[in-house]
Amino acid sequence: MTASSNSRDLTALLRSAFGFSHFRAGQEAVCRAAIDGRDLLLVMPTGAGKSLCYQLPAIARGGTALVVSPLIALMEDQVAKLAAFGFRVARVHSGMERAAARQACADYLRGDLHFLFIAPERLRVPGFPEMLAKQKLALIAIDEAHCISQWGHDFRPDYRMLGQYVPALRPAPVLALTATATPGVQADILAQLGMADPLKFTHGFRRNNLAVEVVEVPMPERPAAIRGLLSQPQRRPAIVYAISRKQSERLAEELSRIVPAAAYHAGLDAETRERVQTAFQDGQLEVVVATIAFGMGIDKADIRTVIHAGLPGTLEGFYQEIGRAGRDGLPSRTYLMHSYADQRTHDFFLNRDYPPADHLDAVYRALGEQPQPVEEMRAASRLSEEEFDKALEKLEIHGGARVDFGGGVSIGGKGWKKAYTIQAQYRAGQFEKVLRFTASPECRMSALVRHFGDEEDAGRPCGQCDICDPAGAVLRQFRHPTARERALAQEIAGELRLVDYRAAGTLQRAVDPEGHVNRRDFDALLDAMVRAGWVEIEEAEFEKDGSVIRFRKVRLTGAGFDLGPATAAHLLIGDGIADEFAASVPRSGKTKTAARAKSPRKAEAPAQLTPQAEAFAARLREWRTAEARRLGVPPYLVLHDRTLAALAVARPANPRQLLEVDGMGPAKAEKFGAAILGLLTGS
Ligand code: ADP
Ligand code: MG
Ligand code: ZN
Repeated sequence: MTASSNSRDLTALLRSAFGFSHFRAGQEAVCRAAIDGRDLLLVMPTGAGKSLCYQLPAIARGGTALVVSPLIALMEDQVAKLAAFGFRVARVHSGMERAAARQACADYLRGDLHFLFIAPERLRVPGFPEMLAKQKLALIAIDEAHCISQWGHDFRPDYRMLGQYVPALRPAPVLALTATATPGVQADILAQLGMADPLKFTHGFRRNNLAVEVVEVPMPERPAAIRGLLSQPQRRPAIVYAISRKQSERLAEELSRIVPAAAYHAGLDAETRERVQTAFQDGQLEVVVATIAFGMGIDKADIRTVIHAGLPGTLEGFYQEIGRAGRDGLPSRTYLMHSYADQRTHDFFLNRDYPPADHLDAVYRALGEQPQPVEEMRAASRLSEEEFDKALEKLEIHGGARVDFGGGVSIGGKGWKKAYTIQAQYRAGQFEKVLRFTASPECRMSALVRHFGDEEDAGRPCGQCDICDPAGAVLRQFRHPTARERALAQEIAGELRLVDYRAAGTLQRAVDPEGHVNRRDFDALLDAMVRAGWVEIEEAEFEKDGSVIRFRKVRLTGAGFDLGPATAAHLLIGDGIADEFAASVPRSGKTKTAARAKSPRKAEAPAQLTPQAEAFAARLREWRTAEARRLGVPPYLVLHDRTLAALAVARPANPRQLLEVDGMGPAKAEKFGAAILGLLTGS
């Protein structure tokens, strides 16, 4: 086959060599570029089918493909699959007999292999790179390429050295593949591998069946909210991600009162973890409360809910974790709970994982050219055992210390400090991004897709997250504005009419000079105006006295210009969590219940319906069942019980009144409005 192969030829090869009838989204273009000999970077989520994107071009180009893979398990899996397709495959890694490795090399040198898999550290074995260079390669595939970058969340020092071996293996094209690389990591991969005029493919991060909710929930209220959510069988199976082992055990214990649930974290022995994983996989356990250690190995398609009981450290991690929901393509929901307290927890983690540079300095200064036993150094250090180990680990990663196999440590290069500082800052920056994600009024799915660098796909709102469809939110609650808030919204619009934009702070001072409204409530109102499409907010920054000051530019949109006095009543303001998930303990401070009773959002409970309202509710329920069946979704996705009850009580007669009913957002009204009005007005 040649570079000019047409579509039919490629599909034929796909069928004959791999037994697949058609390419998945994104695969064909990548295969074509690789067959043409281009260097490329492919970023597609896990399970999207990246392997084929190097395997098919390898076969098409002829010769042996060299595949670098960081994990023996991943390698063994790919090797077994390829062998099953009838390809000649060999591997070389530390977990195998020397004779087998030697055989693999001999087969390679005879030009007898389609694929040779290697672990990156093999390249450090004297003579091995030279041996590889004796054959002309079809291509070089670097799997899990984010491991190359210190900015990736899985950095491996052995991967960083790959770049220096690549030139000797040219002219083969280099293909870097990863499921998780932000634009910054992508740039780093290209640079470190010295890729020539590379093509970048970023594809497939949007998940159409995931509805993402981000909700502010105070720490103490989370267990009750989680129990409330998971008490409904249709929301299970579920994974709850906890931020600590302790939290994971407590939640698991609490949940096991209502549903088979277990904890899973790195502090449990391997046997227990294995048992939990298998039980979850087989359906004996319906909920697992895990720390991040869980999920890599699970292959369960029908997970309906993923809950984060605290803020994750990175958006990459968050995306991977919510991505475990709904692999079967059916509607699934994910909930991210956060509050100010999470920031403090993370500051603690950051300080632990990225100790102050003077800790590293103290260890570095004690090092010499002659290796010293680690234990002796640890004992002599003024740092605690944990601090010492952490500092040494970081020093080693950044080249400031060398640890030999006998456990001796000697001094390394001087450059560690800069590299370490940059990485610590980068880590803190990643968490900043999580915070900004939670605070942003942008569609959740769009924000995630953009985070991975797919600008093209990021423009389309998902229609089902808490931002796109506030009324459809399950855990997050919205309310209509008070008279004061309506007036304030008018003033904001009035102020913005006069200017191109205002910084959020300036705007607040202009419309509320006396400072009656606190910052939070003001932001909540602004966010509501963004969701309604009346204003736009753009993150901006400037430098002052050497530090970067961030601010938000607030601008009126075309729709905002036309904002009439009545329209502000339709705003939906974020208001914590829905009452049905609130802890039964009364809240302290301002009596929220009283404030809520006044707001127009609250529906009467079904029990309080009048006979007439009950008759309408029955009609609505019947319609809802049929509609849910037609759409293939659970009934609550069509209408929530409380929305249904509110409709039966309010009996809206026109679209405007419909929108005033609690739980009926613009998206719902557009989808179901006509049908509902028809039912209620009897037409
Ligand atoms: P990842 O992107 O995570 O590396 P893999 O390459 O391991 O994903 O592919 C995931 C699964 O999808 C594998 O079982 C693979 O055989 C399958 N697959 C890949 N491409 C196709 C295709 N065109 N048609 C059907 N199955 C495919
Ligand atoms: Mg893969
Ligand atoms: Zn959305």
